Formats: sequence, C-alpha cells, structure tokens
Amino acid sequence: LLSTDELKALVRTVPDFPKPGIQFRDITTLIGHPVGMADSVQHLAQLAKACGAQKIAGMEARGFIFGAAVAVELGIGFLPVRKPGKLPIETIGIDYALEYGVDRLEVDPGAIGKGEAIVIVDDLIATGGTALATAQLLRSAGANVENALFVIDLPDLGGAAKLRDAGLTVQTLMEFE
Ligand code: IMP
Repeated sequence: LLSTDELKALVRTVPDFPKPGIQFRDITTLIGHPVGMADSVQHLAQLAKACGAQKIAGMEARGFIFGAAVAVELGIGFLPVRKPGKLPIETIGIDYALEYGVDRLEVDPGAIGKGEAIVIVDDLIATGGTALATAQLLRSAGANVENALFVIDLPDLGGAAKLRDAGLTVQTLMEFE
C-alpha cells in the first residue's frame, strides 16, 4: 500500500481556484493514478471497517467516488447524499449555510435503517459545513452516525474540530496547511 505521504504527493494544488487567494486541493491527479485511487480507497476502507460501518454515505459529487468504492470494498451498501431535486421520490433534506448563501442536501429516508451505523466519506473537509449537515440529516432519519472519513483535511478551516464538537470521530488521510 502506498503511504499517506505518497498519496499526498499525488494531490494537485491549483492556485487561485475558484477565486483569487484560494489554494484548491484537486484529487483529479490522485484518482487518475491507478495505485493512488486503489490505495486511497484501501486506507479509507480499513478505517471504515474499524468503525463498524454498516453503510457508507457519500456526498455529491466527489464523496460518491470514494464512498462508493469503500462500500464495494467492504461489501456493504452506499447511500448517496444528493444535491436538491435529484431524487425521484419524496426526500428529507437539510439546508445549511455556505460562505455566501445556502445549500441543501437530500436523501431517501427509506434507504436508512433505524440505528444503522452509517459512516460518512468525502474527499475533503474544509469548514465542515457539508459534513455536519450530512450527519444531522442522517441522524434525523434514525441512523447512528459517529464517524466521518476524509481523504484531505484543511485543519486551518476548523471543520474537523467542528465535527468533533458535534460528537463525531473524524479521521483523515492527509492534511494541507
Ligand atoms: P466544507 O463544507 O467547507 O467542509 O467544504 C467541503 C466541501 O467543499 C467538500 O465536499 C469538498 O469537495 C469541497 N471543497 C472545499 N475546498 C476544497 C478544495 O480545496 N479542494 C477540493 N474540494 C474542496
């Protein structure tokens, strides 16, 4: 297995995206590398297994890439946490604040078992707003949500700390200052 330091070297940093002054950490190069993709998933799957995951939830869109692969690796189901208006059935949703404006996430409540241990997987945690909203949404549907896994943590933005304050255990493969 590639080490997490070796995986980190496969992440591309793009300056001034999506706006001036932001250093965008881009996983395109990591997942385009055959071993980078496989070993990122292996590391996440080991963590998810140790958490006792019964299902993986991933947020649209990059959470689908890692989350679905982890679920397949562990032989468990995957729950897509979707942007609004995408699911064809009656959904439950949560609105959450962005830096500018609000966004919304939706899931199929019928896909969530009472007390089911669902582990959240996403590519990156920044402010933690997306992951916290996801945890609240899944909990409101009766899931047992105690763990969130990310490929990348931006610790300066405080997201992991915010999730820990909400009672979640947060594990990440790498950090960028
Ligand atoms: P948060 O809600 O502030 O934690 O933002 C996390 C979400 O924004 C994740 O779904 C990420 O995919 C995305 N995101 C924020 N910053 C970056 C970045 O530097 N690179 C890639 N994705 C990012």
